[in-house]
Amino acid sequence: MENNKDDKRDVGGNFECSSCKLYEKFDYKGTKPPFARNILFLEDCYVMKDPFSLPNRGEVLVIGGDCSICNKQICSNCSIFYAKRFCNECLTNNVDKFPVQLITKIINTN
Ligand SMILES: [Zn+2]
Ligand SMILES: [Zn+2]
Repeated sequence: MENNKDDKRDVGGNFECSSCKLYEKFDYKGTKPPFARNILFLEDCYVMKDPFSLPNRGEVLVIGGDCSICNKQICSNCSIFYAKRFCNECLTNNVDKFPVQLITKIINTN
């Protein structure tokens, strides 16, 4: 079902991580999910309603976001948020622009 809202960020759709190919349906993309209370993200995130939370609790799951360099959809596991979101590939390609501590952390978690 498509709907024709003007604000495209407010429309759900399909998310596919460009790195690990995680595939999810998201309910909302943006900074302030209408179905969640008291949540304001620092970036446009792909979010879905948490299927395991009670109705009306307003809990959400963040699936991922858009890489600020290559603009690809990237899941939380394959990216980091450092002022903006960066996918692992762009991180690797721009390693000299990030603090060493950050890079070390990424390498350790992978
Ligand atoms: Zn991924
Ligand atoms: Zn990227």
